[in-house]
This record gives sequence, C-alpha cells and structure tokens, in this order.
Amino acid sequence: MVALLLALVTAQSAAPAVAQTAAAAAQPIRYTLSFPAPQTHYIEVAAAVPTDGRPQIELMMPVWTPGSYLVREYERNIEAVTAADPDGGALAVQKTDKNHWRVTTGGAASVTVKYRVYAHEMSVRTNWVEAGFALLNGAPTFMTLAELTPRAHEVIINPATGWKRSLTGLPAMPGGDHRYRAPDFDTLVDSPIVIGNPAVYEFEVDGKKHYLVNEGEGGIFDGARAAKDVETLVREHRRMWGSLPYDKYYFFNMMTLTTEGGNGLEHKNSQMLTTNRFATRTHRAYLGWLELVSHEFFHAWNVKRLRPVELGPFNYEDEVLTRSLWISEGVTDYYGEMAVHRAGLSNDTEFFDALSDHIEELQTTPGRLVQSVEMASYDAWIKYYRPDENSINVSVSYYTKGAVLGFLLDAKIRKATSGAKSLDDVMRAAFQKFSGARGFTPDDFRGVAEQVSDTSLRGFWSDAIEGTAELDYAEVLDTFGLRFKPTTSNGRVWTGLSTRNDAGRLVVTQIRRDSPGLAAGVNVDDEILAIDELRVRADRWDNRLDQYKPGDTVTLLVARREHLTRLPMTFATDPPRQWRLEESPAATESQKQQLSRWLRPAT
Ligand SMILES: [Zn+2]
Repeated sequence: MVALLLALVTAQSAAPAVAQTAAAAAQPIRYTLSFPAPQTHYIEVAAAVPTDGRPQIELMMPVWTPGSYLVREYERNIEAVTAADPDGGALAVQKTDKNHWRVTTGGAASVTVKYRVYAHEMSVRTNWVEAGFALLNGAPTFMTLAELTPRAHEVIINPATGWKRSLTGLPAMPGGDHRYRAPDFDTLVDSPIVIGNPAVYEFEVDGKKHYLVNEGEGGIFDGARAAKDVETLVREHRRMWGSLPYDKYYFFNMMTLTTEGGNGLEHKNSQMLTTNRFATRTHRAYLGWLELVSHEFFHAWNVKRLRPVELGPFNYEDEVLTRSLWISEGVTDYYGEMAVHRAGLSNDTEFFDALSDHIEELQTTPGRLVQSVEMASYDAWIKYYRPDENSINVSVSYYTKGAVLGFLLDAKIRKATSGAKSLDDVMRAAFQKFSGARGFTPDDFRGVAEQVSDTSLRGFWSDAIEGTAELDYAEVLDTFGLRFKPTTSNGRVWTGLSTRNDAGRLVVTQIRRDSPGLAAGVNVDDEILAIDELRVRADRWDNRLDQYKPGDTVTLLVARREHLTRLPMTFATDPPRQWRLEESPAATESQKQQLSRWLRPAT
C-alpha cells in the first residue's frame, strides 16, 4: 500500500498567510461540480489539475474520513474517469491501485480529469444527492494529486435547477457565487458543502456569524427554537474556553426521519449532523439533540485544534492509530453534556442521569476488565467500529470510559486544589500549549493535568487509563457530596443472555462473561425452544423467566445448527441498578460549594 502524507504544511486554522504561501508554492487544483440530473444521485466532477510539466501524474482518493475511524473505500462510488489536455484531446488514464489513477499528460501544463460520483448514502461522512438538495463531504468526493506539495484546492459549484444556495465553511473565492478556495487538501476534506434551499437561521457571537442549516424540517422540526438554544450553547462553550477559534461556523442539520438519526461529525468550522426531524417534539429527544450539537461543537477545540499528535496532517490512505481518543471523544462527551447543563438547557437531575448512564454502561460492561481505554482508542479501527456479539466481553468504549474518566479527573483536580482549579483549566492550558502544529502525546496531556493540579497523576494514569483496574468512585462522590442511589434487588432471575425475536424464533444474540448462560454452554445464534420441556415462544421469554427464582436450575432445549441440545442452567439474581448518581442528604456545606462551582461556574 502506498502511504503518502499530503500536506507538509497544515494551518491550525485557515489562516490567510498560510493559504497564500501554499498557493504561491504550487498551482491550485480547480474542481467544477455539476448536477445535471440530481434525481439520479450523481455528482459530475471536472478537475483542472496542474501537471508541473510531468509526463505522468498520480491522483488519489481518501479511503477514510478523519473523526470516523474505519476504512470506507470511498473510491467504490467513482465511475467514468477520463482525462483530456487543454485542447480536449483524450489522455490515457490507468488505475494503479484501488484508489489511485495515473494520467499520461502528453506534456500538457494542465489536464482536465472528469469523473462521476454516485451519491446515495445519507450519513455524516458520505454524499447524498437528490432532486431537492445535495450533501457533499470532501473525502468521498475529491481526487487529489498523490504528492507532498501543499497546494490550494478550489471548488466551483453549478447548482442544479432551482437550488438557490450553497453553504460551507470553506473560504469564498472572488468571482461570483458558489466559488470557494481551500488553502490545502485537509481543509477541503474538513469542509462539507450543502446545496439547495435549506432553512437557514443566523446568529452572531463575538461578532462571528453562526448558521444553523436545516435540510428537511418538513414543518415538524422547530428550527427557530433550536437556533435560539444553539446560540445559548455557543455562548457557554465560549465562556469556558475564553474565545471562539474560527471566523464563522455552520451547523449542518440533515433531517433523515428515523433511519440514520442522531449522528454527528466534527470539523474546524462546521459540524454535520443527521437528525430525526421529530427531535424537537419531545423533551428527551430534544435534549439528546442538544447534547449531540454540544459534543460536536466542543470538538472545534478538542480534537480539531487541541489534538493527539497522530491526528494531523492526515494520511488518508491508511489507518491512523492513537491512544488518546478517550480525551478527544470521551472528555468531549463529558463536556458536551456539561455545557448543555451549564447553559441552563438541562436540570440537575437530567445531567446526573446522563452521567449515570455512562457510569452504568461502563460498570456493566465485562470488557472494562480486559481492554484499557488507551487500547480501546488504539484499536478503534478494528474493534469499536467493527463490533460483534463478543465485543461487550472484551472491549470498552473510549467514549463511555473517557467521559467517566473526565468526571473522575475533574473531581481529583478540584479536590487537590481545594476547588481553585478544575479540568476546565487543564483543557484551556492544554489548548494553549498543544493546539499548534504538533499536537499532544499521552504524557503531554498528563503533564498539563499534573501542572494544573500540582499533584502526581502517575498512579491514576497507570490504573485507570493504561490499565484495566476497577475505577474508584469514592473520591468523586466525596468531592461533590454525591452518592449512588440506594437499591435493592427486584428479585428477578438473570441469565446474562440477550435475545431477539426472529419471526417468532427466540435467538440468542449475546452472552455476557461470568453469566449463567455462559456457564450453561449456550452459544450465540442458538434458538431457545423450551425451558424444562415446555415450549417458550419468543414473545413470552421475559414472562416465562418471571416464573422462576434466583438459584432455580432448569434445562434449556436449544436448536444449534438444527441439532437439538439440552443444557442445564442455574439462574442468578438480576443485578440491581446501582450506578445512579444523586446528591447525598448528608452533604456538607463545603461539598455543596464544590458541587455548585462544578455545575454552575458562571454564577
Ligand atoms: Zn466526537
């Protein structure tokens, strides 16, 4: 596999000085995008590519998108690649790798490469074109020169008939509407484009324009209310960080009804969301949407600028491995929910519930004792993004554990400094120090946290971050005067099996480690037919289990690849939900003060 770094110079923001340097160093590639028949879901691309006098040039397409750690093979949607010289004479194009094309230039100074992109996958990282609008992402759309020379990439859009606007975080290029210029390929890939007639809501913070772009509101999604609350959120993030790190910002909000709802992808000056258009109808769904927006917005600092050393400049052709996604994603989850609360958009109970969900998920995942959060980050490409029925037993989510670690670390720092410092200070200090060209290593980040808290975090790091020790919640509870809600068992039985109803067949989908199901020898994909020789129907499984007590032993009859097998199983006790946070009735004044400073720092 050919691995090429595309840009030696990557601006931390789209700074004009760097753009000019890059442009002076090499001629730009200029793409013209057309949509002659959008109802057929195609983008027609014509790219004017400078050859610098070379007899052959090599073009490349990214195979993945930064922020989504899986090789996606976007080149599978490319067809009809042709090349021509400035007189229109056909040039030879040879495919030299799954995502590489070699053009014989015949000595021309510039060649025009044309291709078509099939665009019918609605997600935050792919393309979608239909009669009414287009959603374009950089990685699945643009071929570029496979080389080390930094150069500008220009985009001219010919909207389809009836499409009035194009919206993107890319800087505009003089010469008319729908013309944009990225200083480098990283910026092009980092800047989705929406074309059509979406509902657009504008507001300003610090004199900077923000746009909520809603495609497909359908008279259902309440755009005006959402824009008002997003502005409130932006102001809270700005308060925490001290300033806004961009010139303008787009919230692209694509309504998908229910199929791909609830996904987001971060960029330096925009975010792409797929949203259920009913999300403003219920408080719970709306809170989830605000937390998603907040998470992606926090990324404008954490990961898009304050980033692990490995995450930029990007190698778009191979997996890029980092141990620090728990900081980039998990801590972002912690702050995403926190900012919604601090902005006054959720109450204390809702915030504690969100935090408790992370803790409960982590503490009921057997894989937490197998995989460290650093290795969960490192193996994201082969584990988190490629889950299977055994994932729960052998892996942990760097989102979930990272959010919990953010909570524990925050409390640790507040405790060590008697409330003078917090994780907020660590994030701000890390941003000052590591948002430049290089990024941070795990040791760098720990170093900043140790400096701010004036305490050694070596032990915490080796147990909780590099290791798989059970997390200790005593300190966080003590710091803020919290407790886990007292619980008692509901007396029901527990098997550790997850099942699905497959057209009336009761099929096992997952078996938890250290569970009665595993001890009994049940397999994933077994069909459960009977308990103690009495038929059990798929829709009566839970009801049937209610007829037994913990400690009872039964015989399961299962069909496994059409063979019938009998398996004795002894029921355990259904574990109580023991990870729900609440304020302790015994909290002291100083604990209450810490809690208040944490929940409401602005007051
Ligand atoms: Zn994220």
